[in-house]
Amino acid sequence: MARLIDKVLGHDDIAKGLVQSVRTKNLASAYIFSGPTGVGKKIIALGVAQELLCEKIPACGICPSCSKIENFQHEEVKFIEPDGLQIKIQQAREILNFLSLQKLGRARIIILNDAHSLNPQSANLLLKTLEDPPADTHFFLITHLEKSILPTIRSRTQIIRFPVLDRKSVKKLTSAADWMITASQGRMDILEQFQDTKHEEVRIFVLEFLEYLNEKFVREPFVKLKERLEDKELALFASLILQQMVRDIYFLKYDLHPLIHADLADRLKVFAEASDEKIMALFQNAFEIERNLFSNTDRNLVFENFLLQNQKILP
Ligand SMILES: [Zn+2]
Repeated sequence: MARLIDKVLGHDDIAKGLVQSVRTKNLASAYIFSGPTGVGKKIIALGVAQELLCEKIPACGICPSCSKIENFQHEEVKFIEPDGLQIKIQQAREILNFLSLQKLGRARIIILNDAHSLNPQSANLLLKTLEDPPADTHFFLITHLEKSILPTIRSRTQIIRFPVLDRKSVKKLTSAADWMITASQGRMDILEQFQDTKHEEVRIFVLEFLEYLNEKFVREPFVKLKERLEDKELALFASLILQQMVRDIYFLKYDLHPLIHADLADRLKVFAEASDEKIMALFQNAFEIERNLFSNTDRNLVFENFLLQNQKILP
């Protein structure tokens, strides 16, 4: 087992900078780690905790202290997540209690996951402590919605912005299919969703759905996809895949790269015969599916309309 900070790829400069600050005792007392979900912000915060609390320099990643941090069980690391939709005032009190106890190790770390969920009361309760924390105390506020954190909190923290992971780093972290890596756009949480077999199935159903446009009887039921549409999250995924496939059709027509669903290129290529105008209409309608899924319209109807709107797509 390696130390956590080495498990995150693609943020070398950020990780090195933080480790360096631990060594030189210049680590700030409060950070906001801002950036898309699934790019390693939480793991880096836990990795810094390992650096702070391990007996070894650099942290070993295997001692009881390091393992407890990795398993969210370390008594000097407080990990707070929203209780329901918010980080509630009881949770803010829990943090203050934690900091009022005798310090056992050489530092105390508080990680607030989804820190944008701090409700105003909780935020106000923590404000003073964030500004003037006890010695050797470090806050890490993790968020993908930086602007939703109160300005009074933001102004008291050092903000580190995390970009999405580059393709090379993602490839080192996973053996997922190429289309998944491209479609997840540098976010490991999305990639993991795609790796779920349900999603792979839906991707093929979406392709079959699209292929109905090439049949004479466009009203033929798309039974398999319909069953999956009962799950709203999968329905949204299906609409996303549909948009990507239409994009790929356009790319295939003009020999552009990279394709997202390169493994399905042979089947998608059939549609590259359509005129630009029809492909654009297809794209527009695929996009409308996503929009309509957010309103309360019948999901089956939304997809069926797509078929009706796009009959005679091929010359
Ligand atoms: Zn260790």
